[in-house]
Formats: sequence, C-alpha cells, structure tokens
Amino acid sequence: MPQNKCPRTVCLFVAFLLQATGAPQALAEPKAAADVIFVNGHIVTEDANDRVAEALAVRSGRILAVGSNDEIRALAGHSTRQIDLRGHTVTPGLIDTHVHLASGGLDTLITVDLSDASSIAEVRARIRSRAATLKPGEWLRASGWDEGKLAEGRYILASDIDDLTPLNPAWLDHTSGHYGALNSVAMKQLGITREYQTPPAGTVDRDAGGVPTGVVKESVRDYVLARLPAPTAAERRAGIKAGLAIMHREGMTAIKDADLQPAEWDAYVALARAGELSAHVCALFHTDPSLAAAMATKARVLGLPRPPQVAAPNLVSCGVKVYMDGSGGARTAWMYDDWNVRRTEVDTGNKGYPALDPALYRQIVHLYHDAGIHIATHAVGDRAIDWVVDSYEEALAAHPAKGLRHAIIHANTPTDHAIGVMAKLQQTYDAGYPETQGPFIWWIGDNYAGNLGPARSQRLNPYATYVAHGIRWGGGSDYSVTPLPARYGLWSSVERRTLKGTYGEQPFGTAESVPVAVALRSYTTWAAHQLFLDAEAGSLEPGKSADLAVWDQNLLEVPAAGLKDLKCLMTVFRGGIVFESPGSDVVVGRAGRTVAAR
Ligand SMILES: [Zn+2]
Repeated sequence: MPQNKCPRTVCLFVAFLLQATGAPQALAEPKAAADVIFVNGHIVTEDANDRVAEALAVRSGRILAVGSNDEIRALAGHSTRQIDLRGHTVTPGLIDTHVHLASGGLDTLITVDLSDASSIAEVRARIRSRAATLKPGEWLRASGWDEGKLAEGRYILASDIDDLTPLNPAWLDHTSGHYGALNSVAMKQLGITREYQTPPAGTVDRDAGGVPTGVVKESVRDYVLARLPAPTAAERRAGIKAGLAIMHREGMTAIKDADLQPAEWDAYVALARAGELSAHVCALFHTDPSLAAAMATKARVLGLPRPPQVAAPNLVSCGVKVYMDGSGGARTAWMYDDWNVRRTEVDTGNKGYPALDPALYRQIVHLYHDAGIHIATHAVGDRAIDWVVDSYEEALAAHPAKGLRHAIIHANTPTDHAIGVMAKLQQTYDAGYPETQGPFIWWIGDNYAGNLGPARSQRLNPYATYVAHGIRWGGGSDYSVTPLPARYGLWSSVERRTLKGTYGEQPFGTAESVPVAVALRSYTTWAAHQLFLDAEAGSLEPGKSADLAVWDQNLLEVPAAGLKDLKCLMTVFRGGIVFESPGSDVVVGRAGRTVAAR
C-alpha cells in the first residue's frame, strides 16, 4: 500500500475525480509523484483511439499518466522537474524496423563517406585525401556510393582510383550493401584475377578480355568483407554509440538491428550492461546459407531469453535474418521477368538469382519456425517474395504458432498473390509482416526506377494496397543504405519522390501513397509490434517506457513536402533527455518550479 499523506477522504475524492475525467490513474500524493512532467504540449499518443493530450507525467522511466495540464500538474511533487513544451507536437519516440546500426555507425568512424558524391572526380578527391593519411599496405575503406547519384551514371572501377592508391588495397562499398569496387592492389591481394572462379550467388564484373573491373557483388562481396581487418571491440562499441547519437538527434528511440554477427551482439551487450544503450534494440542474428550454419544460429538464439524478455537492459534477442535474394540496385534480386536498364531497355536474360537454393531456404524456415524463433527474410524481387510468404504459410500450416511475427524485409514489389498471403498470415497467425523502406523511393529511387522499368515501378512499396487489405507493415531506413532519420520515411511514404528525378519526379506514381497518419503508425505502434515491444514502446500510454520526441511542427498538419525537413527539438528515452536541440524553445525547468499555463 502506498503511504498517503493526504487524509483518506481527500485521496478518495481525488481518485474519484481522476476516474471521472477518465485520465490519470495515479494519485497525487508525494510517494507517487512524477519525476518529470511535460505540459503545454500537443501530444500525439498513437493509442488505439488516436488520443491527443496536453500533458504527460513520468515516474521511474515509465509513463505515469497522460492528460490535461491540470490533471498532470496534480501529479507533481516538490522534486518534480517540469518541462514546458510551448505548444510543440510530441510523438512516441520513432522506431525503425530495419537498420544496420552497429555496422553503419562503425562506417561513420572508419570509412570515407561517398554517400553525397556526385561525380567520379569528387570520389577521386576524397580517396586521394584519405590515401595520404595511410601507411603502405593499410586498407583504404569507403562506403555509400551510388552510381545513380554520379554524373557519369556508372559504377566506380578499379581504374578510376588505381593511380591514387598504388600502395594500399582499397574497398569502396556501395550504398546498397550488396556490391562494391576494389582497386587493383586489393584484387591482387584477394586473388580476384582473370583466373578467379566466381562462386554461386555472386558476380565479378569483367571487361571484354575477362579481366575483373573491380566491381564485385553478393557472395563475392561477402568474401571481400571477411578479409578486411576486423574492428576491435572498442571500435564496435564506439560505432554503436555514433549510431545512437544520430537516432537521438532525429527523435528515434528503438531499432531492429538486422543481420548481427556475434561480435556485434557482444558489443551491444557490453553497452547495455554499462548502462550506455540509450534505445531499445531488437537484434536479428545473421545466418549463413547452409543447414549447419542455421543450426548453429538456432542454438545461439535458443540460449538467449525469448522476446520480449530482455537479454540485457533495453536489448532483446528477437530472432534471425535469412537472405532469399539480392538487391534491386544491383539487379541481382530474384524476379519473374528480366530486369530493366535505363528505365525502358531490357537487361536481357537477367532475372537475378536466389541467394541460396530455394529448397534449402524452405528447410531453414521450418528449422527456425519449429523452434519458435522469429524469422525475418530479406526478399526484394517479386519471385523471392512469393517464395518467402509461401514458405512461411507452409511452416505455419504444419505447426500453427501465433505471434512469431515472421517478416518479409524490403518486400519491394510484391505480387497480388504475395499480398493475399500476407493478409491471411497476419490475420490467422500474427505473421507475414512487410518490414519496408519508404526512403528507397527517394535515396536510391533513381537507380530503382531505371532497373524496375515503368510497369513494375508502380508496385514499389504498395502501401495503399496494404491498407486496403488490412495489412500492417513496419517502416524503416535500412541504414546505411539510406540515411537513418525516420522523417525521410514518413515523407517518402506520402510523396514518393526520387532524389534527382532522373525518370521524372514521381516515377513510382502516387496511387500507393498513404496519409502521414498512416505512415506514422508504421514508425510507432506497428513498428513496436515487429520489435516485440508492444507493451513497452510505440505509443504514449501509462505503463510504457517514457520514450518521446518533440518536434518543431505538427507533423500531422504540416504540408507533406515539409515532413522531410521536420526538426526534432528534444528526444526522451526512459524518461531521460538524450537529445536537446540547441535552438529549441522548449523550457526544461528545475525540479520544483511550476510552469505557467499558456
Ligand atoms: Zn538491410
């Protein structure tokens, strides 16, 4: 029983009043006083009734109550800190259902950033200045390039950088994370020569004489990555912290980090135990495409607590990631029809390829599903998506289990068949959720529009069709494939515009646009569901973790074009301020000071 200092009758009366107003569930006695209250806000709770409130109270990192200024002020005690939101809009902390934060954060520390390079000359200038800082033999690493953003409109080749890097092996990773370019020193060191035997599910681009050009894709890229110097544990932790800092500047407080290697998981555990993991992280473990590897990953996952239980503070071991195919940028994703090039030409004979034997994939799905493990499968091409949803349906029919939330990562251009199966799986088994990236339309959309061609482009990220079928999806960035801020995903889901407009500003059409209120669900409650954090995050309701974002504008009312430029003024995780914008007019009061009504 709480110790009440007020006379029993008064307390009962207060309790009656609070019940009658249908708002805060807590009593205004000192023992139950809030640690922090936020007042004078426009608080978009994202609860089931789309309630908007003025104020919110936090105690011990959790939301104590949401209500009017008066109701929430009644929960303040002597030591309660008061934050005046000055009319600003608050949302739940935004959630990204598909990122590579550990690797992307590390890239920001160790690689040359080529994500905004607009010509080969610019690439060369950046490579030249990094090369000047390296000792002979040291690897030069760069990341983020995209031929769709280069004036030349072509891949970077070894011959573009060989003269700048005569003594250093170089690896320039593409923004898709599916291919990249080596220089000649690196190719020699790794044995990627004319005689090199390309392994299955991989590509080595060659000139007319059979000599590798430097560009390698898929399984050959994996071969390269495995031979780069491994980061230290300290570098991995620093990389995650760099990623968390970007999240917090953008009002983000939860992610699903896909495809983790054991060393990345260990880095998360170390940060969590040190109290430095300032976001909810749901981890998906990487699986190599073999039954033996899948069994080893299964044993690892079964040795950890099941979601939503945490393995360490704020850290959940959610399940596994499996790859079904490749990339839409590289035209390696597995399609029914030939890929296009330059929008209207046909890449004759190239329908992409599966990343593993489809029968083996199905075996792996059964293995994990039967063990009660959440599966998220990377599937980009229409044929790959069909195979994945059909595999899920088969496994679920054989062993009906509700709530494993099996996901289709990317799910770029699903067929009508796939959409039908997704709807059925969601309703019947709480599974079959697309975890998609609105910003693909924008950041890599010019490349995509050229590769998909005019007809298939209309099907990219079919959000309006999902709504019509009652399908829920998780929003995300696939960072560092596209930039991390969730506001880009909100904007892309509504506007469907590409970065450069190479094939017109909206080559994917607008028939599949959704209103921002729907897009916001894919970054809040629907996303929380895919992180097994339904009870913890995604909406601002009593009992949940106090994770919230304060914005400079009301994102539900701002013209759609403005969503892209939303500014986060403050981010709160578990009741603590993890980011405050320097220009913000939000007033953080000292404990005990009252904030006037406005
Ligand atoms: Zn990814």
